[in-house]
Amino acid sequence: MIDFFRNLLSSDSFMPHGHCFLWDPGVLWLTVASDALIALSYYAIPLVLFLFIRKKKNLPFAWMFFLFCVFILLCGTTHVLDVWTVWDPAYRLLGLVKAATALVSIATAVLLIPLIPKALALRSPEELEAKNQELQKEIVERDRVKKLLDQSNKELQQFAYIASHDLQEPLRMVSSYVQLLQKKYKGKLDSDADEYIEFASDGARRMGNLINDLLAYSRLESQAKEFRLVDGENIFRNSLRDLQAAIKESGAVVTHDPLPRVMGDDVQLESLFQNLIGNAIKYRGKKTPQIHVSVEMKPGEWVFSVRDNGIGIDPGYFGRIFVIFQRLHARHEYSGTGIGLAVCKKIVERHGGRIWVESEPGKGATFYFTIPEVGA
Ligand code: ADP
Repeated sequence: MIDFFRNLLSSDSFMPHGHCFLWDPGVLWLTVASDALIALSYYAIPLVLFLFIRKKKNLPFAWMFFLFCVFILLCGTTHVLDVWTVWDPAYRLLGLVKAATALVSIATAVLLIPLIPKALALRSPEELEAKNQELQKEIVERDRVKKLLDQSNKELQQFAYIASHDLQEPLRMVSSYVQLLQKKYKGKLDSDADEYIEFASDGARRMGNLINDLLAYSRLESQAKEFRLVDGENIFRNSLRDLQAAIKESGAVVTHDPLPRVMGDDVQLESLFQNLIGNAIKYRGKKTPQIHVSVEMKPGEWVFSVRDNGIGIDPGYFGRIFVIFQRLHARHEYSGTGIGLAVCKKIVERHGGRIWVESEPGKGATFYFTIPEVGA
């Protein structure tokens, strides 16, 4: 190794380059001064480039800048050696450094070629600025539309609330007078009259259900409770309270996995379970309802599911059933107002989750919803 370096620096019988200039001071110092200046600039450029690469984060093609640094440093070194060989003929070393410079220059040139189309595709600062301004405008426009939408949603909700609330009173009046008519005149007028009164009474009852459901829907925001840590087991148990009659009548078997504690509004979560389990009983078909509530931990969230063995749903209607007033069955087949699943969706979304269904006609349905994990 030592021999190799000694050999590199040995000048053997070569003559110093100064001989070529016949040691003419004018030519010699002009060449030496020029080479020295070129070498200095060549060393300064990579230094500035290196500082730039370190400061500039996410610089595209940073490795190419490094390659440039090495290439320019080597170029500078050849000029230093040009000065050196004026007095000391270390031509072997000069040759070696020039060979290294050649290799790095070729590599830089070859690697530069495929980079050109990519570099051309990079946007100029002006283009980026224009795009940025375009995006800013879009954000402002979106904010404006969102504000309008929020406002109109609020007004709609208020309207639904006031309308359903104010309709309750006249409806109560209609219902009680129809009931009075039924009590007082049933069997005393002709059979047509009995039938008409029955229709009126049924209509008033359905309207009452619709108004109550609409009120419950519009209250989801206005009467929402603060979230707190609630026990899934309690929620599930309480949700079955109002379903006892339906469970008894249908012989439904409702089972469940151990349920976790979640952050939420217990009243709304009970209503969510009640709607889903109530539907699983209602849309049961001919089989005895087997309903199972399970839960699975996924990253950052709990995925709850309510599975039944009922009539199932055609996948073409999966999106529609979560829209308010959308029903897939006529009133005489299954009673209902078409608000239940819209309520479920709103509750789940208020809790930061998603709701969806998987099903095939005749093969039961499984409703899934997610609730973020506590602390997630
Ligand atoms: P409603 O039950 O009052 O009609 P929902 O919003 O609760 O309103 O449900 C919308 C529709 O989704 C129902 O009309 C029914 O066709 C369908 N559906 C809901 N749950 C089930 C279920 N478990 N099995 C089959 N169909 C269902």
